[in-house]
Amino acid sequence: MMNTFYVTTPIYYANSLPHLGHLYTMIVADTVSRAKRQRGIDTYFLTGTDEHGINIERAAQKAGRTPKEQADYVVSYYKKMTSEFGLDTAHGGYDIFMRTTEPFHYQGVSELWRQIARNKTPRGNDALYKGHYEGWFCAACAEYKTEDEYQKPKNESEPPTCLIHDTALDRVSEESYFFRLSDYDEALLSVYESRPDFIRPESRRNEVISFVRGGLQDLSVSRLKTSVSWGVPVPDDPAHTMYVWFDALINYITAIGFGNEERQQKAGFEKYWPALHLVGKDILRFHAVYWPAFLIAGGIELPRAIVAHGMWLDPNGRKMSKTLGNTIELDVLQKHFSIDAIRYFVLREMVFGQDGRFGYEGLIDRANSDLAKGLGNLSSRTLTMIGNYCDSRLPSNVIPEDKLLLAKRVGIDTDETTLAGFIETARDQFVLHFENLAFSRALETVWSVVARADKMISDAKPWDLAKDENQKHTLGAVLYRAAESLRWLSVLLYPVMPDASKAIWSQLGLEDSPAHIDPTKLKWGELKAGTAIGNVQPIFPRIDKAKTMAEINADEKTDAVPDTAPEPPMKHATEADAVPGVTSFIEIDDFAKVDLRVGQVLSAERIPKADKLLLLKIDLGEEQPRQILAGIAQYYEPEKLVGRKVVIVANLKPRKLRGYESQGMVVAASYGEEGRPVIATFTEDVPNGARLK
Ligand SMILES: [Zn+2]
Repeated sequence: MMNTFYVTTPIYYANSLPHLGHLYTMIVADTVSRAKRQRGIDTYFLTGTDEHGINIERAAQKAGRTPKEQADYVVSYYKKMTSEFGLDTAHGGYDIFMRTTEPFHYQGVSELWRQIARNKTPRGNDALYKGHYEGWFCAACAEYKTEDEYQKPKNESEPPTCLIHDTALDRVSEESYFFRLSDYDEALLSVYESRPDFIRPESRRNEVISFVRGGLQDLSVSRLKTSVSWGVPVPDDPAHTMYVWFDALINYITAIGFGNEERQQKAGFEKYWPALHLVGKDILRFHAVYWPAFLIAGGIELPRAIVAHGMWLDPNGRKMSKTLGNTIELDVLQKHFSIDAIRYFVLREMVFGQDGRFGYEGLIDRANSDLAKGLGNLSSRTLTMIGNYCDSRLPSNVIPEDKLLLAKRVGIDTDETTLAGFIETARDQFVLHFENLAFSRALETVWSVVARADKMISDAKPWDLAKDENQKHTLGAVLYRAAESLRWLSVLLYPVMPDASKAIWSQLGLEDSPAHIDPTKLKWGELKAGTAIGNVQPIFPRIDKAKTMAEINADEKTDAVPDTAPEPPMKHATEADAVPGVTSFIEIDDFAKVDLRVGQVLSAERIPKADKLLLLKIDLGEEQPRQILAGIAQYYEPEKLVGRKVVIVANLKPRKLRGYESQGMVVAASYGEEGRPVIATFTEDVPNGARLK
C-alpha cells in the first residue's frame, strides 16, 4: 500500500543564513508534497536545521551567544524565509521544521547508536569500535580531510587549508568511536545494483558507485567532549560527543518518531518511513553512502531514494559568491517577484540533475513570456470574452447539427475529442515527468497545452464570430474549450504555482480548490455550462523589465558591499604578445578538420606531484563530461575555473599524461618568455557543445 509519502530537504547547517540553494530545495520538496497530496496521498514534508558541532560553537563564541542562541538566531531567519515564500505549515508547506536540538532527537539518536553498537557488520565485526584518530580536520565542513581534499601550505610550518573553505585545517588526534564503514561496501553496492533508482540521477549514481568500489574507510563518529561539547553525548560514554553528521542524518527518522513515543504518535515512523531525500550534489556522499550504511547497521529500512540536484550558477555559468557579487538575495527576490513566478522559474529553468542559471533578467524574461504572455493571457482573454459575449456564464460546448457546417466553414474542428485527446496525452506525460522529478520537461508539456489553446482562439477569432448571430454556438464551443483547457491547466499547475492555479480555478467559477483534484482523474467536459464565472483579474501582470532592474540594482547597492572587489575580467593576449605575422596559409578544409567546441568546466583539481597540470571535467554538451588535462596549474586556481566557458579541441586523439587520459585540449593563448597561458573564453552566453567555425 503506497498511500503515504515522506519527502525531505537536507536539514541546513545553522551557521549561516538561508540562501537561494536552500530556497530551491524547499520549493522542490514543497512541489513534490503538494502533488502527492493532490492525489490523496498522506504526505509528510520535512525541512529544518542541523545545529550541532564545533562550527556552531565557534560561530556562537564569535557572536557572543550560547550555541543554542546561535541556532535560534539562524532558525528565526529560516522561519521568516519559509513564511515569506509560502513554504511553512500555515501556507500548506512543511509538516515539521526539524531541529536537532529537540530532546526527542537526542532520544532517537541515542536509540539508533545503541542498536548499531549491538549489531555486527556483514563481515561479523562490531559495527562501532573505539580507536584513535589523527588527521586534518575542517571545522566548517565538520570532517577530516584526506590529502586530495586539502591545499598543501606554501610554508611547511603552516597547516593545510580546506579546498572548499580556504581556511586552515586543525590537526586532530584523539580517542574516537569509529563506525566500521569499510565492512559495508558490498552491502551498499548490492543496494545500488538491485535498486537502480536508489540514487538519482544516473550520473551521480555512477559517481557514488565508483567511490564505494574504490574502498571505504571507517568513519570517526565521535569527538572527545573536551574538544566538542555541543552535540549529542554518546550513550553510556558521556566523555564523547557524537560526530555532527552522524546525529544530523538521523533526524530523518527521529523527526517522525523513531525512538520517541510522543513523536511516533504525532507523525509515525512506521507510517511514513522510508523517505525520498532531496539533496544538493555537494552532500550526496553523506546521504548515499554513510546514511544507508548507518541504517543497514541499525537494521532499519533504507530510504525510498536519494535525489541529487545541481547548483545554481549565475547567468554566465559562474559559481555564485559574495566575492563576485553575483548572488541572488532572497529579500530582493521576495520584494520584486511573486512566489509563483519564482517557483515556476526555478522548476522550469533547472534541468533535472544539471546545474541551472539564475539571473534577475532571466527571471523577468521568463515570467513575461511564459506567464504574463502565455498562461496569464490565455486565462484573461478567455474569461474576458466569456464575460463580454456570454453574459459571464460558461457557454455550452455543443454545436447543433444544423450549425456544424457553419462552424466548419470558419475552420473550427467540430470534433472536440481532437483537443481533448491532445490534452489527455499531455496530462499523462506531465504526470510521468513529474513522478520522475523532471519538472522542466513536465512544464514544457503543460505549455504545449497553453500554446494549443491559444492557437485555437487565434484561429477561430471569437471577436468575429460574436458579430454573427448564426455563429453563436461556434463561439460558445470555442470559449468552452478554452475554459475547460484552463481548468485542466489549473489542476496540473497547482503543485508548481498554488496561488495562480487557485486564482484561475475561482475565476472559472469553480468551487473547492485544485489542491484536491487528482490530475489523473480529470475528464474532459466536466465544466458545467451555465456556471457563472468569478471576478476576472490578471494573474500575472507584465513586469516592466527596465524599471524592475533599476530598482533591483538600487536595492543591491544599499545591500552589503562584497568583501572584496570583483575579479577583473579575463585578460586577453595583447597585440604585442601575438604572433607577429602569419607565415603560411591553410585551406578552409584544413581548418575544418579541427573540431573546436564550447565547453564548461565542471570541476578542476590539482594532480599530486604534477605542479603544472590541472585535471578538468568539462561539459561539451555530450552525455558524459570529458576529462581533460591542462598545463595551467601555475597560473589558475582550480576553484576559480569552475563554471567558466572554454574552447576545447574536441577531436584531438586522447592521450595519457601522468597516468590520466586526456580527452581533448583546452585552447589558450601563450605569451611572454615562460609561455604564460591565458584561457580563451566568451563574454557572451553560449551553450556547451557549440562549434567554433
Ligand atoms: Zn571545509
